[in-house]
Amino acid sequence: MSRFPHTRLRRLRRTESLRRMVSETTLSIDDLIYPLFVVPGHNIKNEISSLPGQYHFSVDRLAEEVKDIARLGIQAVLIFAQPENKSPTGAESYSDTGIARQAIAAIKAATPHLTVITDICLCSYTDHGHCGPLTTHSDCAQVDNDPTLDILAKMAVSHAKAGADILAPSGMMDGMVGAIRQALDQANFSDRAILSYSVKYASAFYGPFRQAADCAPEAGDRKSYQMDPANIQEAWREAELDIAEGADMLMVKPALAYLDVIYSLKQRYSLPMVAYNVSGEFAMVKVAAAQNLLDEKKAALESLTAMKRAGADLIITYFAKQAAEWLTN
Ligand SMILES: [Zn+2]
Repeated sequence: MSRFPHTRLRRLRRTESLRRMVSETTLSIDDLIYPLFVVPGHNIKNEISSLPGQYHFSVDRLAEEVKDIARLGIQAVLIFAQPENKSPTGAESYSDTGIARQAIAAIKAATPHLTVITDICLCSYTDHGHCGPLTTHSDCAQVDNDPTLDILAKMAVSHAKAGADILAPSGMMDGMVGAIRQALDQANFSDRAILSYSVKYASAFYGPFRQAADCAPEAGDRKSYQMDPANIQEAWREAELDIAEGADMLMVKPALAYLDVIYSLKQRYSLPMVAYNVSGEFAMVKVAAAQNLLDEKKAALESLTAMKRAGADLIITYFAKQAAEWLTN
């Protein structure tokens, strides 16, 4: 093995051109997925205070936004919708006239080639803010897994009917991918893909999102269904089950504190790997940049590149629009 002074690794770092030639990881606009928050009402485009530069949109204001997103070259959006009415079971989630269906249809009408991914979970639809109806037979109410599957399956079919390309169950219910796959196939939507939030941790980094999606649990936490941040072997089991149930893509959420999880899943499985660069990760950069502690562009692009280096093929990020502009210029 050649050693210093014969080998000098700095030779390939000498110029910008050389550095570009030997760069091992490329971040592309095609890798970015942009989350969109849809709320009831008309003519609404309100900045979300917990997520600087992100907005709540009413359905009638979505067209202008998605045209802008498509113009930037972004390939996909992820829809989170807030219903008019919440209920114990979140039944509005599969309503034929529900807000998510209206949003999907509006986006498809404005930008037919933009891929529409929809969040399939009930926490924005239940009045208690948990990801499914609660058990009634114990003192310590928990999300009732199997009845939740039936609702998620109906919700997925309803969104597929409206034109959703990819259904993304995010509630960490056991069996959610299988239930949705079966329901989609039975409803003649065998062509629609499932992006499973396979490995979603009970993380403190979701704080700003809960305000954006109005989905904070009224009582308790989500530790009985989301994963313990201490675990990684369990992540492999979650992914294995989702693949067996028919998932087309896997997700790890959050991303930055879980790059080892992304890496290990990518080494083990060949499915496209999605990282969710969550609201808390976004807010940390934004707040630090606002205080001139960080260069926002450099910190954001470095984080996104690190996610790709770890093994993410796609990244859901609130930086998507800014990153698309940075990567273009
Ligand atoms: Zn949820």
